[in-house]
Amino acid sequence: MLAIIGKIRTSRGIFNRLIIKNDKIIILDNTVNPPEDCKIFDLGNRVLIPPLTDSHVHFIQSGIYLNSLDLGELKTCKELLAFLGEISFDEFIIDETLWGYNFDPIDNMPSAKELDKATNNLPVFIRRIDGHSCSLSSAAISMLPEELRNETGIYIGSLQEKIVKFFLRSLNESTLIKAVHKVSENALKAGAFYIHALFPLYEWIEVTTKIQDKLPIETTNFFETTDIESVKSLGLKHIGGCLLLDGSFGSHTASIREPYTDDPDNLGILYWSDKKLENFFSNSFNAGLSIAMHAIGDRAVEQYLRIAGKISNGKKLKSWRIEHAELIDKNLLRLAAKMEITLSVQPAFETRWGGPDKLYAMRLGNRWRKTNPFRDEIDAGISLLGGSDSYITPIDPVGGIFACIKRVNSDQSIKLEEAIALFADNPAKWENRETPLMVGSKAQAVILDKDFDFESKPKVVGIVRNEEITLFW
Ligand SMILES: [Zn+2]
Ligand SMILES: [Zn+2]
Repeated sequence: MLAIIGKIRTSRGIFNRLIIKNDKIIILDNTVNPPEDCKIFDLGNRVLIPPLTDSHVHFIQSGIYLNSLDLGELKTCKELLAFLGEISFDEFIIDETLWGYNFDPIDNMPSAKELDKATNNLPVFIRRIDGHSCSLSSAAISMLPEELRNETGIYIGSLQEKIVKFFLRSLNESTLIKAVHKVSENALKAGAFYIHALFPLYEWIEVTTKIQDKLPIETTNFFETTDIESVKSLGLKHIGGCLLLDGSFGSHTASIREPYTDDPDNLGILYWSDKKLENFFSNSFNAGLSIAMHAIGDRAVEQYLRIAGKISNGKKLKSWRIEHAELIDKNLLRLAAKMEITLSVQPAFETRWGGPDKLYAMRLGNRWRKTNPFRDEIDAGISLLGGSDSYITPIDPVGGIFACIKRVNSDQSIKLEEAIALFADNPAKWENRETPLMVGSKAQAVILDKDFDFESKPKVVGIVRNEEITLFW
């Protein structure tokens, strides 16, 4: 047996003593004395929290990007081109192409000609941080089928989705396996024992399932398709994932009801017609599948809710989920709550883009006060799942919890216990898994260097699994 003594935080309150026997938690209480014949681990200033879940991870892409060139520090197109001209990028070449990601320019994406010059005509594939635009060099364009070629090399909208799919589809199996291991190890070190893993390709789920036993984490797999039969053949009860109803704020493609503040004729893009969506929803509903789809702007969220309401005929849609729902007003929240639809949200987006002087304010003006309204959502009775949308932001559920309690828009901050539930209890409930860190549940936990406060986020320093403690630092 192993006894852990010290501050143990859960969504249900604080405890002082945890006792593990084999792979189960047998005691969680406030007594300080451990029983005899028990190994003891004293937390000291450290704090124990439940094993966490990241409910929105582009799984293989995250692994691929962890192995590619991170452009997150570069602020302009010019800086990018100068950087590419200077560095040696051999280790970031994946299946013959240089992959760069996380690029967040305040001006524009680079053209093919600019990339050719900077990299000496190498095949180059650069993705914008929000995943909704990309740039290709001429050598990369020449790898594409004729109908996807474009002279400028800059892609947005549905064509860019096809470009991304093309490059991802051409990855070989050993590259995929390497990516799966990389992202899994990365997740565990961040305290995520569970991942809701999104897959755009059937073969990727097969590769991941094949090596599942060797991974240090558990995944709940999502196949991002509209093909009901293939989802059923995988034994899944849900369909979709980050399946796009609209685009993103960064690329002016999120579908909104009032125009963009910095582009007054633009309402963004709705990728689906009502008719097509109704068809998909009703076929999935009749097949007993719940649906997850990406909807960022209020017009896209409204479309999801309206069509879901129409096809469900008053039935509750408990495990149905909207991914992101970044701009959503109280009327839409009431509608979602009435149907018991779950929202899968990314608190780190608010840290990165929220407040009066960042991207949301630039694109939406005063509406920055209405983005990611977690307080209103919980008050409306909606179950929230916390995620990162990795590779968009890193897998970092502890950072996600911190982002929930400390917001620029403090009206929408939530309590620490609620924030822990977003990344622990709620996803477990969604998966029909036992509540983590309670008597009878699996012996798993995360060790932090300190408790949560409003100054800085705690760091994951170790994990507990069965009677074993692994310290990373
Ligand atoms: Zn998405
Ligand atoms: Zn996503």
